[in-house]
Amino acid sequence: MDRAAPEGADVEEVKAFAQQLSTSFLLCRELQHNWKPFSAWWDEEHHNYARTIRCVRCRTRKVQRLSSTGAVLTSHYEYTEGYLAEHLGRIVGEARDSLRLESLTRSLDGHSPSLPTTT
Ligand SMILES: [Zn+2]
Repeated sequence: MDRAAPEGADVEEVKAFAQQLSTSFLLCRELQHNWKPFSAWWDEEHHNYARTIRCVRCRTRKVQRLSSTGAVLTSHYEYTEGYLAEHLGRIVGEARDSLRLESLTRSLDGHSPSLPTTT
């Protein structure tokens, strides 16, 4: 195995994973999270801001500490149960394409696009 190339997730495994994934999880994986402010407060003791933003689609949270000037000091995710698929490995390249294709296919099923008319 090539040591330089990180081992990515198996394409077929990701396809199967994508098919059983909820649409919200699928969209977040494909289009990224849709963040909205959730909570924020000034931490007098540490002299910085504590802020949580939450994805309106899958409810994953991003928990941050911000300096008084707005610089990000720390940041971590708190994933909704069932979101992570650590057993699959890193979803990159063709495996990532298969997620995108599954998402696209569901869009087609839901709203059949009207084909451009040729008159
Ligand atoms: Zn999300």
